[in-house]
Amino acid sequence: MTTATMSSPPKVRLTQNLIDGKWSDAGSRATFDTFGPATGEVVAKVASSDKTDVDAAVKAARAALECGPWSKMSARDRGKLLFKLAELVERNADELASLEVLNNGKPIGEVKGADIPLVVETFRYFGGWADKITGDTIPVDRSMGDFFCYTKREPVGVCGQIIPWNFPMLMAAWKWGPALACGNTVILKPAEQTPLTALRLGELAMEAGFPPGVINIVNGFGETAGDALVKHPGVDKIAFTGEYKTAQIIMRNAADTLKRLTFELGGKSPSVIFADADMDLAVRGSMAGIFFNQGEVCCAGSRVFVEESVHDEFVGKFKVAAEKRRLGDPYDVKTHQGAQVSKEQFDKVLKYIDIGKNEDKATCVTGGERFGDKGWFIKPTIFTGVRNDMRIAQEEIFGPVAAVLKFKDLHDVVKQANTTIYGLAAAVWTRDITKAFAVADGVRAGTVWVNCYNTFDPAAPFGGYKFSGQGRENGKDALSAYSEVKTVWVNLGKR
Ligand code: ADP
Repeated sequence: MTTATMSSPPKVRLTQNLIDGKWSDAGSRATFDTFGPATGEVVAKVASSDKTDVDAAVKAARAALECGPWSKMSARDRGKLLFKLAELVERNADELASLEVLNNGKPIGEVKGADIPLVVETFRYFGGWADKITGDTIPVDRSMGDFFCYTKREPVGVCGQIIPWNFPMLMAAWKWGPALACGNTVILKPAEQTPLTALRLGELAMEAGFPPGVINIVNGFGETAGDALVKHPGVDKIAFTGEYKTAQIIMRNAADTLKRLTFELGGKSPSVIFADADMDLAVRGSMAGIFFNQGEVCCAGSRVFVEESVHDEFVGKFKVAAEKRRLGDPYDVKTHQGAQVSKEQFDKVLKYIDIGKNEDKATCVTGGERFGDKGWFIKPTIFTGVRNDMRIAQEEIFGPVAAVLKFKDLHDVVKQANTTIYGLAAAVWTRDITKAFAVADGVRAGTVWVNCYNTFDPAAPFGGYKFSGQGRENGKDALSAYSEVKTVWVNLGKR
């Protein structure tokens, strides 16, 4: 049953850590404030963990991995637990959505239309994989004897999972799904800005029947709780989503214990619009590409490349569409765009708008300022006259700011599109299949969308080239990141 209404913030109940199936304060009793971006007010005080709490979580996760019901559970039963969790998320969708809106500031329509269904389907998809994670039989050389050789996939072990604040529930699901399907145990460190829905997911996981210690949640800051997880010798793998600069720190800190690492990082994704494109479709797609989720999307289409001959037509329509977006109360189902997640992000986006106007000297055709005087809202912003070497074309802003650039031809645009440290995603808008494939082949990016943007499915791999990451989330590729391959040679003794 749902407990929260769609139009009002829910009561915050869970603020502690989840360790070994029990809720507990941080050992130090320290807490940190978590905010509601739409009001800028504190909504809860959450356990602020350090090394000691991480250590307790690692002990619980190790014990659950090596003995106890999880270690003996059949793969099929692990899958059933994920199905059950999916069902519980569906059943509690209103409450979860309401909590996500409260803590993240995104609009309720998007949470219910995108985040929740994707969370549910992610758990189902990986639940389906649990009993299909198989090895191979290998036809090895028989000149030295008669051998039977096979491989099997075993869990990596205790997995530390450090997630960001832009899709708090979905990022938890992307991390838990493949890890649990493969039989690992996990310690999730939610972003300090948005811990609330992960805690409710943890409670639902307990209700679903995951044994104690299989799913642990340790709240706190990156530099304390996150850092302790990365350095802990009892953690076998770190899966991280966030900024590449943080990934560099994690990589260095994980070196001593030689942890397995997967990263899903940022982007400066190009959206390429050819003159022959369906212009209205391209405008709608580019809008979704950059303004969805307040632009707080790692694969946001933040560089919009438009062929010279249709530049003015495109910009005219793009501006009109951006100005039609409704900003405001994220609990209103009619709202398109909510608040940026934090004061820090709000200031960062405004700083980049200032750089665009004054340092890069690009033209701000719409937006370029905050919306209202309460909370952390920023108007959809479009810059034209942008060159690819400008800061607003190269640095990740992570907000509702589009940089529009011109291009001459296919060769020119592929070169410009690839002139970035990132390689997470790209889009191309054209009616010419040859051009579409040429861009899809030419851009060095983990996902390419042709005449669409931001389509996601748990079955479709997602991840980055270059500074945008390593490894893949979703799809069967995610399973390789959470399993070790064991090769077994058996001497059949026939010779
Ligand atoms: P942002 O700056 O957008 O918040 P980050 O990459 O800093 O992005 O944060 C993503 C996640 O990484 C958060 O959960 C954060 O707490 C965590 N984090 C930040 N710094 C570290 C660190 N040094 N070690 C481990 N985790 C960290």
